[in-house]
Amino acid sequence: MTRVIAIIGGKGGVGKTTVTSNLATSLAKLGNEVIAIDANLTTPNLGLHLGYHLTPRNLHDVLKGETRIRNAIYAHPLGFKVIPGSMNINDLEGVDADRLPEVALNLIGKSDFILLDSAAGLGREAMSAMTTADEILVVTNPDLPSVADALKVVGMAKKRKKKVAGVVVNRIQSKWHELKREEIEEMLSAPVIAEIPEDKNLPMSIKLKIPMVHLLPESEASIEINRIAHHLTDKTFTYKKPEKRYNLVHRLARWLSS
Ligand code: ADP
Ligand code: MG
Repeated sequence: MTRVIAIIGGKGGVGKTTVTSNLATSLAKLGNEVIAIDANLTTPNLGLHLGYHLTPRNLHDVLKGETRIRNAIYAHPLGFKVIPGSMNINDLEGVDADRLPEVALNLIGKSDFILLDSAAGLGREAMSAMTTADEILVVTNPDLPSVADALKVVGMAKKRKKKVAGVVVNRIQSKWHELKREEIEEMLSAPVIAEIPEDKNLPMSIKLKIPMVHLLPESEASIEINRIAHHLTDKTFTYKKPEKRYNLVHRLARWLSS
């Protein structure tokens, strides 16, 4: 059975593409067949994260009806497949985002997972990714604007009877003013399945076009991505996150603001 999962979050820049490229790697390392699709048509950058930004055929060509999906699939050396988007602004003309579900249907049965790297917001592009998917993985940062936007995504997913596979909180700096796991779970009525810290090496992994889970597998960010892959495949994951201890100033500031 192919599970189609949209990696989605209302706000831009929260880490959807970073989670998609790393999760594809992590799931492949666990022995799964994975196809990662850049469903962010206006500002695609999954290809940039993975080194497929100048491919001869891409999802835009497929959505324009100029080629078949099989011609836009590329095998990544880390064991998964990628369908990148076009970086060329001219390729936006004639692209019909609403065709994504029908196009993706051709891939059902050809892999264990299809991951859709979605656009920000709740516009046509993000909605076509949600329509294509059976499940959504919500990515947010631990701040109120990101979680408020994620709440809209969760609300929309529930309306459309899509399963919420979980919430991924990314770019955690463990500052007193950040929303805590329990607060996010309460606001979104969905479980947080991974807490990825802010990692200064992540921009380097993107620059090198090597997913973090492969470049620095021992990093806490990589461990948290692996936690998502284990969760999605019902595999036990034993690593326990060390408890964050706030210093006196942070404890006082938290108390004053509560
Ligand atoms: P989105 O796809 O949601 O717009 P991206 O995955 O492109 O977000 O991430 C936006 C930027 O944030 C990237 O340049 C990436 O380097 C940075 N980033 C994402 N996650 C982290 C993290 N955990 N630590 C540090 N930088 C991060
Ligand atoms: Mg993105």
